[in-house]
Amino acid sequence: MHRKRRTKILATLGPASSSKEKITELFNAGADLFRINMSHSSHDMLNDLVATLRSVEKEVGRPIGILADLQGPKLRLGEFKDDSIEVSTGDKITLDLNEAPGTQKRVHIPHPEIIDALEPGHRILIDDGKVTLKVLKASKKDALTEVVSGTKLSSRKGISLPDSDLAVSSLTEKDYADLDAALAAEVDWIAISFVQRPEDVAEVRKIAKGRAGILSKIEKPQALTKLDDIIELSDAIMVARGDLGVEVPIEQVPGLQKQMTRACRRAGKPVVVATQMLESMITAPMPTRAEVSDVGTAVFEGADAIMLSAESAVGDYPVEAVTMMDKIATQIEQDENYDGIISAQRSEPEPTGADAISLAARQIAETLNLSAIVCYTGSGTTGLRAARERPSVPIIALSPVARTARRLSIVWGLHCVVTEDANDLDDMVDRACRIAASERFAKPGDRVIISAGVPLGTPGATNMLRIAFVASDGQSGI
Ligand code: PGA
Ligand code: MN
Repeated sequence: MHRKRRTKILATLGPASSSKEKITELFNAGADLFRINMSHSSHDMLNDLVATLRSVEKEVGRPIGILADLQGPKLRLGEFKDDSIEVSTGDKITLDLNEAPGTQKRVHIPHPEIIDALEPGHRILIDDGKVTLKVLKASKKDALTEVVSGTKLSSRKGISLPDSDLAVSSLTEKDYADLDAALAAEVDWIAISFVQRPEDVAEVRKIAKGRAGILSKIEKPQALTKLDDIIELSDAIMVARGDLGVEVPIEQVPGLQKQMTRACRRAGKPVVVATQMLESMITAPMPTRAEVSDVGTAVFEGADAIMLSAESAVGDYPVEAVTMMDKIATQIEQDENYDGIISAQRSEPEPTGADAISLAARQIAETLNLSAIVCYTGSGTTGLRAARERPSVPIIALSPVARTARRLSIVWGLHCVVTEDANDLDDMVDRACRIAASERFAKPGDRVIISAGVPLGTPGATNMLRIAFVASDGQSGI
């Protein structure tokens, strides 16, 4: 079994999609990997979902990636005396550290680090930007602000600080505990929310020690100024358009999406485009034209994966949403403009054996119209570099490591298969041809190109290419 598209689908799990039956349906409809949102999942729920996903994986016989998404520092207002206050433009309100219930004049901020970071001129966005405050005066213990827009402030609403550099790590105590639980559950990816600095990524990397890939969610303007460093330290990036659209002017989001997608393609790091992709399908069986076009744009840009959030987690039509994404991506990839747009953004190879071989494999496969590129990849690096070339022929990534195959499920165009290391060169070629045939990428008489490292099984040593015929018994013909 293989998908007829290269772009991967990441579906968020939730109450609408936590049974084994539903998850199987989502997989069959096209979901390649699944997100467990730690904002809404206890450790028991996490363990149950991972166990369910692994049993689905076993039944369908395909590696499935699991991403645990850490909540990150969600900053919130304190409480108001009557739960909320009415405000209007020009009103002055003080933010302070006094725990007494808020009034028309002042409100508690249960985060000293916010008061510390505020400076005159900084904006404070509350409740997804419904209210904007501007700091007039700031001291060690409070800040005087003015209402710029909005009409109502209520208890415990979320706060965004697009102008302030908070002296807190992006990881809370809850995140550390969730990270440990997710690593113990052997998830494949850890997503870090509200990444601000490369150090935030380094911190998680230090704890994960390679046990999971690290995906940085870009949803703070501070992260945009250090994007290249963050990409370099991360294994993948998410264009987290939900919070990003609150933290920066919303009209900048499409340009930023393009900038991030291109930066990741250059770096050869997977990029996920996320949030509100088919938002109206939370309550309707059909998306809007604008949503279809939005998914189309991400696919045309060569994004590695596109994500469903509430659509699959709590919506009324989770399976329909995955089916719709699958249809859109499949259609766009067959569009007559697709190959041209994808190759226009192709980057030069870096001076490494893996890149030179990936480039050559693509050119040979395209020149000879081969059926597939088959690459042996232990750690996954060779698979990533092969995908970075965005070849027009399918890529089969063979790995003896189940963890690698699962992790690569996020990557554009990679069809991953777990298989033991080959014994010798003949076995390597036979095995590649047999798998290309059994996975239905090649028929007897077709040719494939195989990349591998000799001596076999040596990590990081991709150094050879071989063209081979698929014989009628599915083995190699030459
Ligand atoms: P979230 O992240 O769904 O965890 O908030 C994605 C986003 O902000 O777009
Ligand atoms: Mn977010």
